[in-house]
Amino acid sequence: MHTHRRHLLQLSLAAGLAPGLLRHARADASPRFALGIASGHPSAEGMVLWTRLTGVDLPARVEVRWEVAEDETFRRLVASGTETAEAGWAHSVHAEPVGLRPGRWYWYRFEALGQRSTAGRTRTAPAADALEPLRFAIASCQRWDHGFFAAWRHMLAEELDLVMFLGDYIYEYGAAPGRVRSVEGGAAVTLPQYRARYAQYKSDPALQAMHAAVPWLFVWDDHEVENDYAGLRGEKIAQDFPARRAAAYQAYWEHQPLPKAWRPRGVDMRMHGRNAWGRLAVIHALDDRQYRDPQLCTKADKYGSNTLPLRECPELLDPRRTLLGAAQERWLAEGWDVTPGRWNLVAQQTLMARMNRSAKEPTYWTDGWDGYAPARNRLLAEVRQRQVPNVVVLGGDVHSHVVADLKADFDDPDSPTVASEFCGSSITSWGGQRSLDGLRTLNPHLHYARNDQRGYMAFQLDARDGLRAAVRVLDDALKLDSGISTTANFVVSPGRAGVLPA
Ligand code: FE
Ligand code: CA
Repeated sequence: MHTHRRHLLQLSLAAGLAPGLLRHARADASPRFALGIASGHPSAEGMVLWTRLTGVDLPARVEVRWEVAEDETFRRLVASGTETAEAGWAHSVHAEPVGLRPGRWYWYRFEALGQRSTAGRTRTAPAADALEPLRFAIASCQRWDHGFFAAWRHMLAEELDLVMFLGDYIYEYGAAPGRVRSVEGGAAVTLPQYRARYAQYKSDPALQAMHAAVPWLFVWDDHEVENDYAGLRGEKIAQDFPARRAAAYQAYWEHQPLPKAWRPRGVDMRMHGRNAWGRLAVIHALDDRQYRDPQLCTKADKYGSNTLPLRECPELLDPRRTLLGAAQERWLAEGWDVTPGRWNLVAQQTLMARMNRSAKEPTYWTDGWDGYAPARNRLLAEVRQRQVPNVVVLGGDVHSHVVADLKADFDDPDSPTVASEFCGSSITSWGGQRSLDGLRTLNPHLHYARNDQRGYMAFQLDARDGLRAAVRVLDDALKLDSGISTTANFVVSPGRAGVLPA
């Protein structure tokens, strides 16, 4: 515990002061690790280590050395190697050490062009037969010009094993007047523009510190490309959307600790995957964006989302439509872990629970799972029929903290609860700034729904007590030094679907 705290302090200091210039710095050197370092996708024997070289006059190819040690002073080195950072991939580095020991913490760092990065901390997942607890947080929607990243500073103190980032890591929009801080440039459309946007976001010291403290798992949503996009159809009608998506996907891979095997090819990129946490849990990370059918009943001037009653859009009940695509739907159906006692955590990007917003006539928001209700019913029917244990759906996107029971039939409050849902609000992105409490009478399966709160949700999962969730809310995301508090606690008991207040 002592070592842990001391290391976090070092991370904060290093990230705040001078990333990349710790030991080998020359006075005239351009910082080579200005965007920080990160790790992700922990398995029982390794993980992905990431950085991207920065600065002037970078050669087209640069050898980058990486090191993994069992201690923070790097005396007990257990793995090392070199990767070639290429200009064609934005000088990004994705190193994949293997053969590490399960269930323990490691420290890592990079060296290139005479400079050394700060040291980061990461960990492996527990061994396949180990039953160890998991502490994690879900986060999403960190629009740069909507606030400061105080949430990351607070999350650093939570002593987590894992961060799940569930989409809207960047926003593609151009600069707008009167914001607390400003994005650089216009809307991101080309590869250089998306790269520049990531570089700006990753310059933030609190975000860098959280990346350097624990491994992350990633799910993307729409704003990494364009608002409300669906498959190969963007929101704006007149544009070369496939070219834009290809640029956005490439920049995404270049800037996150994702496996090398997921490097995009043309307009496609693998993003769904599965990570086990010993015998305790399996995490199914989904891609709700790349393979979905186009949105239905869009407005006249664009392809994006709409909110309307079934009467105006009966096609919403077409069972042939999918949110995940046929192949990924099958992959999920075949991959549920039905071992008794196992937790099946589903990391994906948006609200799965039914959310009717009208007392007059029930409405459907076409961008979320409500816009693909038959696909949602298929997924939940499968869970129910096969009695998949302990299914918990995690999401983001709606800029609201939402906690819900997922029902076999949302139109029948007495129908069985099949799974539990925690949809986290935003790190900064604005919500409607009003309470959603009124909607709980229209949607009785909701336990909590507020869109006037920024923050994240923190979880502790263990075999005996189940899943404990804390709704963490910033005092004011417009302030760099904002405090944070817990506004609600929930629990999901082992072997019993549905959320209870704690
Ligand atoms: Fe968002
Ligand atoms: Ca979104």
